[in-house]
Amino acid sequence: MVRVLVPAESREGERRVAASPETVRRLVAKKSEVFIESGAGLEAGFSDQAFIEAGASIVARGCPDTWSAAELVICVQPPAQDSEGGSGGLERLASGSLLVGLLDPYLNRSLIERLNSRGLSTVAMELLPRISRVQSMDVLSSQANIAGYKAVLLAAAELDRFFPMLMTAAGTVQPAKVLVLGAGVAGLQAVATARRLGAVVKVSDVRPAAKEQVESLGARFIDPPSREAPGEAGGYAREAGAAFLEAQRQQLTVHLAEADAVITTAQVPGRPAPLLITEEMLKALRPGSVVVDLAVSTGGNCAGSQPDRTVEIGGVRIIGSSNLPASVPHHASSLYARNLAAFLEPLFSDDGLQLNPEDPLLDPCLISHQGACRRPELWPSLEEVTA
Ligand code: NAD
Repeated sequence: MVRVLVPAESREGERRVAASPETVRRLVAKKSEVFIESGAGLEAGFSDQAFIEAGASIVARGCPDTWSAAELVICVQPPAQDSEGGSGGLERLASGSLLVGLLDPYLNRSLIERLNSRGLSTVAMELLPRISRVQSMDVLSSQANIAGYKAVLLAAAELDRFFPMLMTAAGTVQPAKVLVLGAGVAGLQAVATARRLGAVVKVSDVRPAAKEQVESLGARFIDPPSREAPGEAGGYAREAGAAFLEAQRQQLTVHLAEADAVITTAQVPGRPAPLLITEEMLKALRPGSVVVDLAVSTGGNCAGSQPDRTVEIGGVRIIGSSNLPASVPHHASSLYARNLAAFLEPLFSDDGLQLNPEDPLLDPCLISHQGACRRPELWPSLEEVTA
Protein backbone atom coordinates (compact mmCIF):
# COMPACT_ATOMS: atom_id res chain seq x y z
CA MET A 1 0.00 0.00 0.00
CA VAL A 2 1.44 3.38 -1.03
CA ARG A 3 0.67 6.07 1.53
CA VAL A 4 -0.48 9.20 -0.32
CA LEU A 5 -0.85 12.55 1.45
CA VAL A 6 -2.92 15.45 0.10
CA PRO A 7 -2.08 18.58 2.14
CA ALA A 8 -4.31 21.60 2.58
CA GLU A 9 -2.72 24.28 0.39
CA SER A 10 -0.86 26.91 2.39
CA ARG A 11 -0.12 29.69 -0.15
CA GLU A 12 -2.23 32.79 0.35
CA GLY A 13 -5.18 32.87 -2.05
CA GLU A 14 -4.74 29.28 -3.16
CA ARG A 15 -8.21 27.69 -3.06
CA ARG A 16 -7.51 24.57 -5.09
CA VAL A 17 -6.76 21.07 -3.85
CA ALA A 18 -4.77 18.30 -5.54
CA ALA A 19 -7.38 15.53 -5.22
CA SER A 20 -11.13 15.19 -5.69
CA PRO A 21 -13.37 12.38 -4.43
CA GLU A 22 -13.28 10.97 -7.98
CA THR A 23 -9.47 10.79 -8.07
CA VAL A 24 -9.27 9.46 -4.50
CA ARG A 25 -11.33 6.48 -5.75
CA ARG A 26 -8.89 6.05 -8.62
CA LEU A 27 -5.86 6.11 -6.29
CA VAL A 28 -7.52 3.75 -3.80
CA ALA A 29 -8.23 1.35 -6.69
CA LYS A 30 -4.45 1.32 -7.24
CA LYS A 31 -4.11 -0.04 -3.71
CA SER A 32 -2.93 3.16 -2.12
CA GLU A 33 -3.96 4.60 1.21
CA VAL A 34 -5.00 8.24 0.81
CA PHE A 35 -4.74 10.78 3.65
CA ILE A 36 -6.32 14.21 3.22
CA GLU A 37 -5.61 17.08 5.58
CA SER A 38 -8.76 18.26 7.30
CA GLY A 39 -10.70 20.85 5.25
CA ALA A 40 -8.25 20.65 2.32
CA GLY A 41 -11.07 20.53 -0.23
CA LEU A 42 -13.60 22.83 1.38
CA GLU A 43 -12.98 25.86 -0.83
CA ALA A 44 -13.14 23.68 -3.92
CA GLY A 45 -16.49 22.25 -2.81
CA PHE A 46 -15.20 18.86 -1.56
CA SER A 47 -16.11 18.13 2.06
CA ASP A 48 -14.11 15.85 4.34
CA GLN A 49 -17.14 13.55 4.34
CA ALA A 50 -17.08 13.28 0.53
CA PHE A 51 -13.40 12.28 0.70
CA ILE A 52 -14.14 9.72 3.44
CA GLU A 53 -16.91 8.20 1.31
CA ALA A 54 -14.42 7.95 -1.57
CA GLY A 55 -12.09 5.91 0.65
CA ALA A 56 -9.70 8.52 2.12
CA SER A 57 -8.80 9.13 5.77
CA ILE A 58 -8.87 12.67 7.15
CA VAL A 59 -5.82 13.78 9.15
CA ALA A 60 -4.95 16.94 11.11
CA ARG A 61 -3.12 19.68 9.19
CA GLY A 62 0.68 19.62 9.43
CA CYS A 63 0.70 16.46 11.58
CA PRO A 64 4.42 15.44 11.66
CA ASP A 65 3.65 11.70 11.82
CA THR A 66 1.50 11.80 8.68
CA TRP A 67 4.16 13.70 6.74
CA SER A 68 6.99 11.42 7.82
CA ALA A 69 4.97 8.31 6.88
CA ALA A 70 3.93 9.61 3.43
CA GLU A 71 5.55 8.02 0.38
CA LEU A 72 3.83 10.31 -2.08
CA VAL A 73 2.67 13.91 -1.49
CA ILE A 74 0.48 15.50 -4.16
CA CYS A 75 -0.06 19.23 -4.00
CA VAL A 76 -1.09 22.19 -6.12
CA GLN A 77 1.64 24.62 -5.04
CA PRO A 78 4.77 23.74 -3.04
CA PRO A 79 3.96 23.16 0.64
CA ALA A 80 5.25 25.88 2.97
CA GLN A 81 8.63 25.27 4.50
CA ASP A 82 9.17 25.72 8.25
CA SER A 83 11.40 28.70 7.42
CA GLU A 84 8.36 30.39 5.85
CA GLY A 85 6.37 29.90 9.04
CA GLY A 86 4.22 27.25 7.39
CA SER A 87 2.58 24.44 9.30
CA GLY A 88 3.36 22.00 6.46
CA GLY A 89 5.65 19.11 7.23
CA LEU A 90 7.92 19.40 4.20
CA GLU A 91 11.00 19.15 6.44
CA ARG A 92 9.63 15.92 7.90
CA LEU A 93 9.17 14.01 4.66
CA ALA A 94 11.11 10.76 4.72
CA SER A 95 14.06 10.31 2.39
CA GLY A 96 12.98 8.54 -0.80
CA SER A 97 9.45 9.96 -0.82
CA LEU A 98 8.01 11.67 -3.89
CA LEU A 99 6.54 15.19 -4.14
CA VAL A 100 4.36 15.97 -7.19
CA GLY A 101 2.82 19.34 -7.98
CA LEU A 102 3.09 22.70 -9.71
CA LEU A 103 6.47 23.52 -8.19
CA ASP A 104 7.28 26.58 -10.32
CA PRO A 105 10.69 25.03 -11.04
CA TYR A 106 12.26 28.04 -12.77
CA LEU A 107 11.68 30.26 -9.75
CA ASN A 108 11.98 27.77 -6.90
CA ARG A 109 15.61 26.84 -6.91
CA SER A 110 16.00 27.06 -3.11
CA LEU A 111 13.04 24.76 -2.51
CA ILE A 112 14.29 22.17 -4.98
CA GLU A 113 17.80 22.28 -3.48
CA ARG A 114 16.31 21.81 -0.05
CA LEU A 115 14.26 18.82 -1.17
CA ASN A 116 17.35 17.32 -2.79
CA SER A 117 19.33 17.65 0.42
CA ARG A 118 16.66 15.52 2.08
CA GLY A 119 16.91 12.74 -0.51
CA LEU A 120 13.48 13.31 -2.03
CA SER A 121 12.25 12.81 -5.57
CA THR A 122 10.39 15.71 -7.13
CA VAL A 123 8.07 16.01 -10.12
CA ALA A 124 7.30 19.49 -11.48
CA MET A 125 4.12 18.94 -13.49
CA GLU A 126 4.81 22.09 -15.53
CA LEU A 127 7.66 20.29 -17.28
CA LEU A 128 5.68 17.39 -18.75
CA PRO A 129 6.38 17.23 -22.49
CA ARG A 130 3.53 18.67 -24.65
CA ILE A 131 2.95 15.46 -26.64
CA SER A 132 -0.36 13.80 -27.47
CA ARG A 133 0.24 10.88 -25.07
CA VAL A 134 0.38 13.38 -22.23
CA GLN A 135 -2.77 15.38 -23.01
CA SER A 136 -4.83 13.88 -20.17
CA MET A 137 -2.06 14.85 -17.72
CA ASP A 138 -1.42 18.34 -19.06
CA VAL A 139 -1.87 20.59 -16.03
CA LEU A 140 -0.62 23.68 -17.86
CA SER A 141 -3.44 23.34 -20.37
CA SER A 142 -6.19 22.55 -17.88
CA GLN A 143 -5.27 25.52 -15.71
CA ALA A 144 -4.39 28.01 -18.47
CA ASN A 145 -7.77 27.32 -20.04
CA ILE A 146 -9.42 28.53 -16.84
CA ALA A 147 -7.13 31.56 -16.62
CA GLY A 148 -8.01 32.63 -20.19
CA TYR A 149 -11.72 32.31 -19.52
CA LYS A 150 -11.62 34.19 -16.21
CA ALA A 151 -9.40 36.96 -17.60
CA VAL A 152 -12.13 37.89 -20.08
CA LEU A 153 -14.80 37.87 -17.37
CA LEU A 154 -12.63 40.20 -15.26
CA ALA A 155 -12.13 42.51 -18.22
CA ALA A 156 -15.86 42.53 -18.99
CA ALA A 157 -16.69 43.29 -15.36
CA GLU A 158 -14.22 46.19 -15.21
CA LEU A 159 -14.95 47.69 -18.62
CA ASP A 160 -17.03 50.84 -18.88
CA ARG A 161 -19.08 49.41 -21.75
CA PHE A 162 -20.87 46.29 -23.01
CA PHE A 163 -19.05 43.43 -24.74
CA PRO A 164 -21.85 42.46 -27.19
CA MET A 165 -23.45 44.57 -29.85
CA LEU A 166 -26.91 45.59 -28.65
CA MET A 167 -29.79 47.05 -30.60
CA THR A 168 -31.98 48.86 -28.14
CA ALA A 169 -34.82 51.35 -28.35
CA ALA A 170 -32.29 53.97 -27.28
CA GLY A 171 -30.01 53.12 -30.18
CA THR A 172 -27.36 50.63 -31.25
CA VAL A 173 -24.36 49.81 -29.06
CA GLN A 174 -21.24 48.69 -30.92
CA PRO A 175 -19.45 45.54 -29.69
CA ALA A 176 -16.32 45.85 -27.58
CA LYS A 177 -12.97 45.43 -29.31
CA VAL A 178 -10.65 43.01 -27.57
CA LEU A 179 -6.95 42.53 -28.30
CA VAL A 180 -5.37 39.25 -27.14
CA LEU A 181 -1.56 39.04 -26.99
CA GLY A 182 -0.32 35.44 -27.08
CA ALA A 183 -2.42 32.66 -28.59
CA GLY A 184 -1.39 29.68 -26.47
CA VAL A 185 -3.91 27.79 -24.36
CA ALA A 186 -4.94 30.78 -22.20
CA GLY A 187 -5.02 33.15 -25.17
CA LEU A 188 -7.17 30.88 -27.31
CA GLN A 189 -9.65 30.39 -24.46
CA ALA A 190 -9.71 34.17 -23.98
CA VAL A 191 -10.52 34.56 -27.68
CA ALA A 192 -13.31 31.95 -27.48
CA THR A 193 -14.80 33.52 -24.34
CA ALA A 194 -14.65 37.08 -25.67
CA ARG A 195 -16.27 35.91 -28.92
CA ARG A 196 -19.05 34.16 -26.97
CA LEU A 197 -19.69 37.47 -25.21
CA GLY A 198 -20.00 39.13 -28.60
CA ALA A 199 -16.73 41.07 -28.77
CA VAL A 200 -14.71 41.69 -31.92
CA VAL A 201 -11.30 40.12 -31.32
CA LYS A 202 -7.78 40.56 -32.74
CA VAL A 203 -4.81 38.44 -31.74
CA SER A 204 -1.02 38.75 -31.93
CA ASP A 205 1.38 35.80 -31.61
CA VAL A 206 4.85 35.06 -32.92
CA ARG A 207 4.16 31.41 -33.79
CA PRO A 208 2.82 31.06 -37.36
CA ALA A 209 0.81 27.97 -36.28
CA ALA A 210 -1.37 30.21 -34.12
CA LYS A 211 -2.90 31.99 -37.13
CA GLU A 212 -5.16 29.14 -38.21
CA GLN A 213 -6.30 28.45 -34.61
CA VAL A 214 -7.14 32.11 -34.06
CA GLU A 215 -9.06 32.39 -37.33
CA SER A 216 -11.03 29.21 -36.62
CA LEU A 217 -12.37 30.98 -33.52
CA GLY A 218 -13.62 33.90 -35.57
CA ALA A 219 -10.88 36.36 -34.58
CA ARG A 220 -8.42 38.31 -36.75
CA PHE A 221 -4.74 37.35 -36.58
CA ILE A 222 -2.15 40.11 -36.61
CA ASP A 223 0.77 38.71 -38.58
CA PRO A 224 4.12 39.22 -36.81
CA PRO A 225 6.16 42.18 -38.12
CA SER A 226 8.25 41.41 -41.16
CA ARG A 227 11.50 41.25 -39.17
CA GLU A 228 12.58 37.68 -38.54
CA ALA A 229 10.14 36.19 -36.01
CA PRO A 230 11.66 34.24 -33.09
CA GLY A 231 10.03 30.95 -34.19
CA GLU A 232 9.31 28.04 -31.90
CA ALA A 233 10.88 25.05 -30.20
CA GLY A 234 8.87 22.10 -28.91
CA GLY A 235 5.61 23.98 -29.60
CA TYR A 236 6.70 26.95 -27.45
CA ALA A 237 7.77 30.37 -28.72
CA ARG A 238 11.47 31.19 -28.56
CA GLU A 239 12.47 34.42 -26.88
CA ALA A 240 12.20 37.37 -29.28
CA GLY A 241 15.24 39.61 -29.82
CA ALA A 242 15.20 43.32 -29.00
CA ALA A 243 14.79 44.45 -32.64
CA PHE A 244 11.82 42.15 -33.23
CA LEU A 245 10.14 43.24 -30.01
CA GLU A 246 10.60 46.89 -30.93
CA ALA A 247 8.96 46.29 -34.32
CA GLN A 248 6.18 44.30 -32.66
CA ARG A 249 5.49 47.10 -30.17
CA GLN A 250 5.26 49.66 -32.96
CA GLN A 251 2.79 47.43 -34.76
CA LEU A 252 0.70 46.84 -31.61
CA THR A 253 0.43 50.55 -30.81
CA VAL A 254 -1.90 50.97 -33.78
CA HIS A 255 -4.16 48.14 -32.56
CA LEU A 256 -4.13 49.39 -28.96
CA ALA A 257 -5.65 52.67 -30.12
CA GLU A 258 -8.77 50.75 -31.18
CA ALA A 259 -9.00 48.33 -28.23
CA ASP A 260 -11.41 48.48 -25.30
CA ALA A 261 -9.89 45.51 -23.49
CA VAL A 262 -6.51 43.78 -23.79
CA ILE A 263 -5.73 40.30 -22.47
CA THR A 264 -2.00 39.57 -22.37
CA THR A 265 -0.79 35.98 -22.12
CA ALA A 266 2.57 36.01 -23.96
CA GLN A 267 5.20 33.85 -22.29
CA VAL A 268 8.43 32.01 -23.05
CA PRO A 269 9.14 29.09 -20.68
CA GLY A 270 11.88 29.86 -18.17
CA ARG A 271 12.44 33.38 -19.49
CA PRO A 272 11.05 36.78 -18.52
CA ALA A 273 7.76 37.55 -20.28
CA PRO A 274 8.18 39.90 -23.28
CA LEU A 275 7.24 43.49 -22.51
CA LEU A 276 4.66 44.14 -25.24
CA ILE A 277 2.97 47.28 -23.86
CA THR A 278 5.31 49.97 -22.57
CA GLU A 279 4.18 52.87 -20.42
CA GLU A 280 4.36 55.11 -23.51
CA MET A 281 2.11 52.68 -25.42
CA LEU A 282 -0.49 52.80 -22.64
CA LYS A 283 -1.23 56.35 -23.81
CA ALA A 284 -2.65 54.84 -27.02
CA LEU A 285 -5.41 53.14 -25.00
CA ARG A 286 -8.44 55.25 -24.21
CA PRO A 287 -9.28 56.06 -20.55
CA GLY A 288 -11.80 53.49 -19.29
CA SER A 289 -10.16 50.60 -21.13
CA VAL A 290 -8.83 47.54 -19.31
CA VAL A 291 -5.70 45.38 -19.53
CA VAL A 292 -5.58 41.96 -17.86
CA ASP A 293 -1.97 40.76 -17.62
CA LEU A 294 -1.72 36.98 -17.15
CA ALA A 295 2.07 37.04 -17.51
CA VAL A 296 2.52 39.23 -14.43
CA SER A 297 4.34 36.60 -12.34
CA THR A 298 7.17 36.33 -14.90
CA GLY A 299 7.61 40.08 -15.23
CA GLY A 300 4.44 41.01 -17.11
CA ASN A 301 3.57 41.89 -20.71
CA CYS A 302 2.29 45.32 -19.68
CA ALA A 303 4.24 48.13 -17.99
CA GLY A 304 3.01 48.87 -14.48
CA SER A 305 1.16 45.59 -13.90
CA GLN A 306 1.57 44.19 -10.42
CA PRO A 307 0.76 40.70 -9.14
CA ASP A 308 -2.78 40.45 -7.79
CA ARG A 309 -3.38 44.18 -7.87
CA THR A 310 -5.28 46.55 -10.10
CA VAL A 311 -3.44 49.77 -10.92
CA GLU A 312 -4.66 52.69 -12.97
CA ILE A 313 -2.37 54.55 -15.37
CA GLY A 314 -3.84 57.40 -17.40
CA GLY A 315 -7.36 56.07 -16.84
CA VAL A 316 -6.44 52.56 -18.03
CA ARG A 317 -7.09 49.86 -15.44
CA ILE A 318 -4.37 47.20 -15.42
CA ILE A 319 -5.25 43.97 -13.64
CA GLY A 320 -2.27 41.75 -12.77
CA SER A 321 -3.56 38.22 -12.29
CA SER A 322 -1.02 35.67 -11.09
CA ASN A 323 -3.35 32.82 -10.16
CA LEU A 324 -6.76 33.00 -11.84
CA PRO A 325 -7.30 29.20 -11.78
CA ALA A 326 -7.58 29.49 -7.98
CA SER A 327 -10.58 31.77 -8.49
CA VAL A 328 -12.51 28.91 -10.12
CA PRO A 329 -11.49 26.37 -7.46
CA HIS A 330 -14.02 23.60 -8.09
CA HIS A 331 -13.37 23.03 -11.76
CA ALA A 332 -9.68 23.94 -11.50
CA SER A 333 -9.23 21.31 -8.75
CA SER A 334 -11.37 18.68 -10.48
CA LEU A 335 -9.36 18.97 -13.71
CA TYR A 336 -5.99 19.29 -11.99
CA ALA A 337 -6.75 16.23 -9.82
CA ARG A 338 -7.67 14.24 -12.95
CA ASN A 339 -4.41 15.31 -14.62
CA LEU A 340 -2.49 14.07 -11.56
CA ALA A 341 -4.39 10.77 -11.40
CA ALA A 342 -3.71 10.13 -15.10
CA PHE A 343 -0.01 10.84 -14.50
CA LEU A 344 0.28 8.75 -11.33
CA GLU A 345 -1.74 5.64 -12.20
CA PRO A 346 0.95 4.12 -14.48
CA LEU A 347 3.56 4.60 -11.73
CA PHE A 348 1.81 2.19 -9.35
CA SER A 349 2.93 -1.43 -9.39
CA ASP A 350 2.49 -4.42 -7.03
CA ASP A 351 5.75 -3.34 -5.37
CA GLY A 352 4.64 0.24 -4.79
CA LEU A 353 5.65 3.33 -6.76
CA GLN A 354 8.07 2.68 -9.63
CA LEU A 355 9.90 5.69 -11.06
CA ASN A 356 11.81 5.08 -14.26
CA PRO A 357 13.79 8.28 -14.89
CA GLU A 358 14.48 7.12 -18.46
CA ASP A 359 10.76 7.15 -19.34
CA PRO A 360 10.43 9.96 -21.96
CA LEU A 361 7.38 11.23 -20.12
CA LEU A 362 9.04 11.32 -16.70
CA ASP A 363 12.52 12.36 -17.83
CA PRO A 364 11.85 16.12 -18.29
CA CYS A 365 9.62 16.61 -15.25
CA LEU A 366 11.44 14.44 -12.65
CA ILE A 367 13.63 17.33 -11.62
CA SER A 368 15.25 15.42 -8.79
CA HIS A 369 15.49 11.72 -8.08
CA GLN A 370 16.37 10.42 -4.62
CA GLY A 371 18.12 13.67 -3.82
CA ALA A 372 20.05 14.06 -7.07
CA CYS A 373 19.25 17.12 -9.19
CA ARG A 374 18.42 16.03 -12.76
CA ARG A 375 17.70 19.41 -14.43
CA PRO A 376 20.39 21.91 -13.33
CA GLU A 377 20.04 23.73 -16.67
CA LEU A 378 16.69 25.13 -15.53
CA TRP A 379 18.30 27.87 -13.55
CA PRO A 380 20.79 29.96 -15.51
CA SER A 381 18.06 32.48 -16.34
CA LEU A 382 16.62 32.57 -12.84
CA GLU A 383 18.21 35.78 -11.64
CA GLU A 384 17.02 37.58 -14.76
CA VAL A 385 13.45 36.32 -14.30
CA THR A 386 13.23 37.44 -10.70
CA ALA A 387 15.21 40.68 -11.11
P1 NAD B 1 2.91 29.77 -23.19
O1 NAD B 1 2.11 30.00 -21.96
O2 NAD B 1 4.35 29.39 -23.05
O3 NAD B 1 2.87 31.12 -24.08
C1 NAD B 1 1.64 31.71 -24.43
C2 NAD B 1 1.74 32.23 -25.85
O4 NAD B 1 2.59 33.39 -25.89
C3 NAD B 1 2.32 31.25 -26.87
O5 NAD B 1 1.35 31.01 -27.88
C4 NAD B 1 3.53 31.98 -27.41
O6 NAD B 1 3.76 31.71 -28.79
C5 NAD B 1 3.14 33.43 -27.18
N1 NAD B 1 4.22 34.41 -27.25
C6 NAD B 1 5.50 34.33 -26.81
N2 NAD B 1 6.17 35.46 -27.10
C7 NAD B 1 5.29 36.30 -27.73
C8 NAD B 1 5.39 37.61 -28.27
N3 NAD B 1 6.52 38.32 -28.27
N4 NAD B 1 4.26 38.14 -28.83
C9 NAD B 1 3.09 37.46 -28.89
N5 NAD B 1 2.96 36.20 -28.40
C10 NAD B 1 4.05 35.63 -27.82
O7 NAD B 1 2.20 28.75 -24.18
P2 NAD B 1 1.13 27.59 -23.87
O8 NAD B 1 -0.21 28.16 -23.75
O9 NAD B 1 1.62 26.76 -22.74
O10 NAD B 1 1.18 26.78 -25.24
C11 NAD B 1 2.38 26.57 -25.92
C12 NAD B 1 2.18 25.66 -27.07
O11 NAD B 1 1.93 24.32 -26.66
C13 NAD B 1 1.05 26.02 -28.00
O12 NAD B 1 1.53 25.83 -29.31
C14 NAD B 1 0.02 24.98 -27.74
O13 NAD B 1 -0.83 24.76 -28.86
C15 NAD B 1 0.90 23.80 -27.46
N6 NAD B 1 0.23 22.75 -26.71
C16 NAD B 1 0.40 21.45 -27.11
C17 NAD B 1 -0.24 20.44 -26.42
C18 NAD B 1 -0.09 19.01 -26.82
O14 NAD B 1 0.34 18.75 -27.91
N7 NAD B 1 -0.40 18.08 -25.96
C19 NAD B 1 -0.99 20.74 -25.31
C20 NAD B 1 -1.13 22.06 -24.92
C21 NAD B 1 -0.49 23.07 -25.62
